[in-house]
Amino acid sequence: MNKVLISACLLGDKVRYDGKSLFTSSDILQEWIDKGRVISICPEVSSGMSIPRAPAEINGGDGYDVLEGIISVMENTGNNVTEDFLRGANNALKLCKANEITVAVLAEFSPSCGSSSVYSGDFSGRKVNGVGVTAALLTSNGIKVFSQHQLTEANKSLALSEEYHEICGISY
Ligand code: SF4
Repeated sequence: MNKVLISACLLGDKVRYDGKSLFTSSDILQEWIDKGRVISICPEVSSGMSIPRAPAEINGGDGYDVLEGIISVMENTGNNVTEDFLRGANNALKLCKANEITVAVLAEFSPSCGSSSVYSGDFSGRKVNGVGVTAALLTSNGIKVFSQHQLTEANKSLALSEEYHEICGISY
């Protein structure tokens, strides 16, 4: 049975920068949990960042720019946390590889987990099109990344990936 990677905050873990969760109630999520499909991670906490922690934003680009080394992730205190974010993204990728995960559902707008939109980098509350650092790294490695607002699409993708594994006779 294919597993799916989920942002820990969506499952109710209080791991966000403000010490809160982003609990998402959904029949699809509950079914995945019941079937033992869910593997969760908070990339930022996995990298050693504290709870709570200062808010951080990608400094004027998106996760792909961070992976290329041309943009940093900065806290609103001026602290550069790029290395922490890269370490967290790599932790998530390792988890996906270890569990043969091809589908992830990550929390939208986060500088780690956002999959279509992130904050602009000036801490003004403005959002721009783009992805977080973890979402960029997973996508670059062939993993399909969805937000918590796309659970139906993620479920379809999971079913397709399972069908593909069955047709190809790949066991997992
Ligand atoms: S890094 Fe991802 S999992 Fe962790 S709190 Fe932020 S959005 Fe949630």
